[in-house]
Amino acid sequence: MKRNTVLAGALCLMATLSLFVPASSLAQQAAPVFKSEQLVEPAGPGPSAYRLWIESSGAQLGPNLLLLATAGGGVLVDTHFAHPYIGQILTGGVSKLLAGAPLRQVVATHYHPDHTGGIGHFSGDTSVLAHENVRRTLADGTSATGLVRPGERIDFPARSADGLPDTTFRDAWALDVGGEHVRVVHLPHAHTDGDAVVVFEQAGIVAVGDLIWPGEYPSIDVDNGGTATGLAAAVKTLLDTMPAHARFVTGHGRVLDQAGLQAYHNMLASTIQHVRARLADGARLDAIVKEGLPAAWSTWASDLVPEDVWIRTIAEERTADGGGGR
Ligand SMILES: [Zn+2]
Repeated sequence: MKRNTVLAGALCLMATLSLFVPASSLAQQAAPVFKSEQLVEPAGPGPSAYRLWIESSGAQLGPNLLLLATAGGGVLVDTHFAHPYIGQILTGGVSKLLAGAPLRQVVATHYHPDHTGGIGHFSGDTSVLAHENVRRTLADGTSATGLVRPGERIDFPARSADGLPDTTFRDAWALDVGGEHVRVVHLPHAHTDGDAVVVFEQAGIVAVGDLIWPGEYPSIDVDNGGTATGLAAAVKTLLDTMPAHARFVTGHGRVLDQAGLQAYHNMLASTIQHVRARLADGARLDAIVKEGLPAAWSTWASDLVPEDVWIRTIAEERTADGGGGR
């Protein structure tokens, strides 16, 4: 079993902090700090890109964010949790990196609160884009199982207007800013039903949100339209359509190159195929869980997605939809 997942710890800690600790003392007690790593150095006036994250006592809290910085303005991918202190250090850190250029656009990769909680911190001249299903899910409220711990259900109440994206898209969307061409593409029924991938063409950087979990079985929000079939298809699409030199910034792990993405796809394809073959042989789900997956994949199990959860995700989708994917 592997280290656990940043998302799980972060959701718990930040939810607790939000409820019980005033913003002023949170700064002293947990001392979250804004961190950044430059992924692309600007060539002349060209764009640069940064991975951003929040750290407390040396540990990362919550997801990776991505910032494109150009002389013509910035584009930020994802907004972290709603906590006001997080909002304060995030917006401060972003404006410092933009060095006077405006933050033009925020893009949310999917609805989960560690990616969209901070939308309300960005307003005014900054537009916030998300897939149309993300806006609907946030506006209606929803619940989901297994995002914090296996089997545990959590509720996400309906959001008021200031916590919602102001712009939505269905299949694809694009923006030119400061010499960079930014493409946003929807990949259906993967981690959720509203996943967006953000491509910075010139910088060669792709933000993939929670589609990719380096070295781990994927977390799939089956209550909100996520599927194993769609996730594997989404990763195949990225392999087929993104440039060979692209680097992929993941929601909760390291930055991957094409080879890393291929290794992740190999795991998805192989484990999905294994479970389907056993079902086709007439094996019962409980028996497949007991046998386990081929030993080659055992290191991919995590606290958030142990092997049995991944097997059941694959098998129950197959049973529920008659085998054709959703
Ligand atoms: Zn997520």
